[in-house]
Amino acid sequence: MVEETTRDDMTWYACEKCGLMFDDPDDAAQHEENCDAEDPSYLQ
Ligand SMILES: [Zn+2]
Repeated sequence: MVEETTRDDMTWYACEKCGLMFDDPDDAAQHEENCDAEDPSYLQ
């Protein structure tokens, strides 16, 4: 599930698995589908 974040009047979409951010929700969703970060050990 892509996370939506607003910063500086821009909406960003972050991959819930690895935290990578996109400015396009479709890009984010597509990335997340293919994201293989199964162990996000660096997430705090
Ligand atoms: Zn990812």
